[in-house]
Amino acid sequence: MIYNFSPGPGTLPSEVLKKASEEMVDFKESGMSVMEMSHRSSYFQEIRDEAEELLRELLEIPQDYEVLFLQGGASLQFAMIPMNLMTVNKKCDFIHTGAWTGKAIKEAESMGSVSMVASSEDASFSYIPPIDEIKFNEDADYLQICHNNTIYGTKYIDLPSNEKVPLIADMSSSILSERIDVSNFDLIFAGAQKNIGPAGLTVVIIKKELLKRIPRGIPTMLDYRTHVEHRSLFNTPPTYSIYMAGLVLKWLKKMGGISAMEELNLKKANLIYDLMDNSWLFNGLALRAYRSTMNVTFTTGSENMDKKFIAQAAKEGLMTLNGHKSIGGMRASIYNAMPLQGVEKLVEFMKKFEREN
Ligand SMILES: *Cc1c(COP(=O)(O)O)cnc(C)c1O
Repeated sequence: MIYNFSPGPGTLPSEVLKKASEEMVDFKESGMSVMEMSHRSSYFQEIRDEAEELLRELLEIPQDYEVLFLQGGASLQFAMIPMNLMTVNKKCDFIHTGAWTGKAIKEAESMGSVSMVASSEDASFSYIPPIDEIKFNEDADYLQICHNNTIYGTKYIDLPSNEKVPLIADMSSSILSERIDVSNFDLIFAGAQKNIGPAGLTVVIIKKELLKRIPRGIPTMLDYRTHVEHRSLFNTPPTYSIYMAGLVLKWLKKMGGISAMEELNLKKANLIYDLMDNSWLFNGLALRAYRSTMNVTFTTGSENMDKKFIAQAAKEGLMTLNGHKSIGGMRASIYNAMPLQGVEKLVEFMKKFEREN
C-alpha cells in the first residue's frame, strides 16, 4: 500500500479515483467522456451546478456570495485580487507568513501600495504574528492573509477581524479541512490541487458587495464580473477538474461533511504531533500554537538523517515526505484524502526509525 504525502497536487480519495475510472470512457451512458463533452451540454451543466451546490452546502456559503470556478491557480488570484479590488484607496494590508504571501505581496505592489502590517520572517515563518498586537490600516482596501502556510506548516487560530476592511484569505491548503464561517471573509480563494481535486481549477468565493468596486477597463478574463455574469462559463472552463472536484465533494459529504472531516484531521495531525513531542529525535518546525493540521513539518536536526528518513520511508511506501527546498526537513501533507491508516503507518515508521537511529 502506497501513501502519498505530497503537498500538491495532493492525494485524492481512492474511492473518487475508482469512480472516475469507471466513468472515464462513458459518462452516464452518454457514450462520451466528460473530457470530450461540450461545456454547454446539459451533462456538463449538471456537473457544474452540482459541484457549486455541494460546495455551498458543505461550506454553508451565504447567498450574498458568488462561487467561481476559474483557472490560473492561486497564483493568478495574487494578481486578480489587487487588479479588481485594490481600487478605492489603492492600498492594502498583508500579514506576511511565508513564500505564498511573499508572492502575493509582489503582485499587489505592482498595482498599489502594500503595507506589511506584520511578518513572521524573523523566525523563518514558524509562527503566525499575534493578531491583537497588529495595527491595521483603516483605509486599506482589504487585508490579505494566507490561512494555512503549506510550506512551513503553520495556520491561523484566531482571525483578524476589522469590520471596516474586507478580509481576503488564501485557503489553498486548508479549504474544506475545518469548519469556517464564510461570512468572516470577503473573498476566499484556493487552488484545487490540495484539498478539492486535480490541478487546473481555482475556486473563488467572493462577497457580491465587493464586485461593485471593480473598475472598468481591465481585461475581460481577469474581471471577476465576467465570471459571475457567465456562471464561470465565459470560456471553456477546466471541465474535467470541475467534474473531479464534484466527485471529491460528494465523497466529503458522504464522510460526514466538514465537521466530521475536521475531527478526523485533528486526530491524524495529533498522532504525528504527539509522537514528535515525546521524541528525542524528531522536532517540529512550527511553533506549537500555530501548528497546521494539513501540513506537518519536522526534522531530526541533521540533514543527513533527514535524507535517510525520507529514503527509507519511500521504501516502505510512504512517499513524498521531503520538506520544501526552502526549509528542508520533512513535511507530511495530510489533506482530507489521506486516510487515518496512512498516518498510522507513518507514525509506526517514525517510531521504528527512532529506535534504530
Ligand atoms: C500551492 C499554493 C499556492 C499556489 O497555488 P497554484 O495553484 O500553484 O498557483 C498558493 N498558496 C498556497 C497557500 C498554496 O498552498
